[in-house]
Amino acid sequence: MLKIFNTITRLKETFIPIKKNIVNMYVCGVTVYNYCHIGHGRTFVIFDMIFRYFRHLGYKTKYVRNITDIDDKIINVVKKNNETIEKFTNRMIKNMQNDFSLLNILSPDFEPKVSECINEIIKIINKLLKNNHAYIQNNGDVMFSVDSYKNYGKLSNQFLKKLKVGKRIKVNKEKKNPLDFVLWKKTLPSEKFSWKSPWGQGRPGWHIECTTISSIKFGNKLDIHGGGIDLLFPHHENENSQFNCLKKRSKINYWIHSGMVILNNKKMSKSLNNFILLKDLLSTYDGESLRYFLMSTHYRRPLSYCENNIKKSALSLKSLYNSLRNTKIEKKNYYFQNEYSIAFEEAMQDDFNTPKALSVLHAISKKINMLKNQNKFKEVKKFSNLLRKLGKVLGFFSYDPEDFLRKKSKMKSKEEINSLIKERNIARKLKMWKLSDNIREKLFKFGIILEDHKLFTTWRKK
Ligand SMILES: [Zn+2]
Repeated sequence: MLKIFNTITRLKETFIPIKKNIVNMYVCGVTVYNYCHIGHGRTFVIFDMIFRYFRHLGYKTKYVRNITDIDDKIINVVKKNNETIEKFTNRMIKNMQNDFSLLNILSPDFEPKVSECINEIIKIINKLLKNNHAYIQNNGDVMFSVDSYKNYGKLSNQFLKKLKVGKRIKVNKEKKNPLDFVLWKKTLPSEKFSWKSPWGQGRPGWHIECTTISSIKFGNKLDIHGGGIDLLFPHHENENSQFNCLKKRSKINYWIHSGMVILNNKKMSKSLNNFILLKDLLSTYDGESLRYFLMSTHYRRPLSYCENNIKKSALSLKSLYNSLRNTKIEKKNYYFQNEYSIAFEEAMQDDFNTPKALSVLHAISKKINMLKNQNKFKEVKKFSNLLRKLGKVLGFFSYDPEDFLRKKSKMKSKEEINSLIKERNIARKLKMWKLSDNIREKLFKFGIILEDHKLFTTWRKK
């Protein structure tokens, strides 16, 4: 039986879905105002692992993740770089998708941009106004009233009294309670990124977007809501309140939070300017090795960023691939029960214990190597299939072992790559297209993808 640590009860609970064999999961997505950093990598690799594990258990999954493309930070960046908001956010979304696909993160079933959901957001705010959970402030902003929800503070385990005297909360005399938060922010009619609403021109607050998207997709009951632990307060506290105030008996059953990535003993975050970008790491390490590193610590614990540990993860993954060399993929997706598969399931059923599950993969790999030495090829086939099957549950082995190992050993040095790019640029200037194409293909064979920009060329690993 699958046990999950539920943030709202602070207990490891047996997972019981609302509908038999179906799992509904909502995870807060990225605010696309910059490139994604390794903290995003961890959150979305973790929820991808959870998503894959449910599928492995035979559940029909419905996974929804939003893209926050309306935000003051986005507006501020765009003001500085003279790009339109749509062009800028689309570029950032492409970069995000690129990073995520290199990390073998599967696309969710539904991934709307907030800017596509404005009408629905307005409807939801209207509902909260009608239910007396919201009010309009003198300045025209629509606010959620935290006093209207008796369990406010329950999810993040913060008591209202304690919060009220908190120094971090600015006192705004127009608010009924200093913790009330904005659902619809009034803007000037001339402001570019704003929409018409019954309360005048404006744009939605951050928390209401997730509640809107999760309630359109799932109604008033949701199995799992996930996100990074840094979102617990105020974002998830506010989301939980809004969701529960929409209808009687609304409920989010399990709240799952992944731990933060720590850099130099501090939280890694874009807003603190203390972060390492995924795209930079992915130009040095392959995505599966990085994925391994992100899963090597239990998902709820903080993960210290350490380049040495990424290197160790890359070697560990390489050793798994090594034992799969010269073994064929069985077409029939068979799965047999033995001490290894049982240990793997036990680890995963215990609140997704990936470090333990990874150690089971290594035990199978050791077994395969031993069987190979004993020339027991039938057994090799059986266990290599098991290793493949279980590794795939965690999102590994998307490469053929030979390709993966060759790619690592034959990868050109940065100097070699740059000198080939220079050579190709000269060929392009001289309109020697065939030579330029040959160089591109040559690099592609070494796992290097070239990206031509207006005035220069960059490269990344395949
Ligand atoms: Zn959210």
